[in-house]
Amino acid sequence: MENLARIIAESRFLVAFTGAGVSTESGIPDFRSPGGIWSKYRPVTYSEFLSSSRARHEYWRRYQEMYPPFCQVKPNPAHFALAELENMGLLKGLITQNIDGLHQAAGNSEDNVVELHGRIDITVCIDCGARLDTGLVIDRVNSGEAVPVCEKCQGLLKPATISFGQELPSDKLEKAISLSRQSDVFLAIGSSLTVHPAAAMPGLALDNGARLIIVNNTSTPYDDNAHLVINSIAGQTLSGVVSLLHRSN
Ligand code: NAD
Ligand code: ZN
Repeated sequence: MENLARIIAESRFLVAFTGAGVSTESGIPDFRSPGGIWSKYRPVTYSEFLSSSRARHEYWRRYQEMYPPFCQVKPNPAHFALAELENMGLLKGLITQNIDGLHQAAGNSEDNVVELHGRIDITVCIDCGARLDTGLVIDRVNSGEAVPVCEKCQGLLKPATISFGQELPSDKLEKAISLSRQSDVFLAIGSSLTVHPAAAMPGLALDNGARLIIVNNTSTPYDDNAHLVINSIAGQTLSGVVSLLHRSN
């Protein structure tokens, strides 16, 4: 932890990259661990969603089950520590694969967070781009509209999260690439670093000479290239680092 605090204190352009592992302490299961979201279901791909009404029906049925717990979750010490690093002027950018909005809820500014995989609480019309509150759409599903459509144009509605086979929004991807390339310290937290293209970001940072630091409770494919690997729990580690940084100020 002392090592990480020193590296952060000396950094010029610190960028954090987070995955589902920063939110498990808030009660949201991650992707790959036993009990993880997709250990239960095979994901509905984007092309299945577009082409099959049965797939859309199944997709919304799962959201009906998955969405209510997402609404009740609160940021945990890992999120608060990252917000504090931004507050202290140390964290220059935060790239997240998470769709839960917990970084902003903890206090990171909207401008500083790049949500590569979208947001669960917003639903969009695939045809006209209308944006709706996912909670209100789920209410419609609960009232019997099994596959909700846009009230303006009858287009398909889909939560603004990236499905398998769906392209990442180019503006978000470009911003993430640019932050990764600018970083001199790239801090990856709670990610298996296996879901592409997001998982290419640590590689871009390394190619540009950044030091890669990994905080994750299991190994990742980047461990051998990292400057420092901390195999521990994200909340405890990051809040410990923030306390050390405050003490040394
Ligand atoms: P992942 O599940 O592939 O990897 C999470 C990693 O975090 C694992 O290696 C796990 O061992 C580790 N981990 C779990 N809890 C931890 C903790 N408390 N401290 C330290 N490490 C911990 O997740 P990923 O790399 O983000 O990729 C999965 C995909 O699933 C992403 O695309 C993401 O969008 C999506 N997803 C998002 C959420 C969310 O928004 N909270 C939840 C599940 C999945
Ligand atoms: Zn529409």
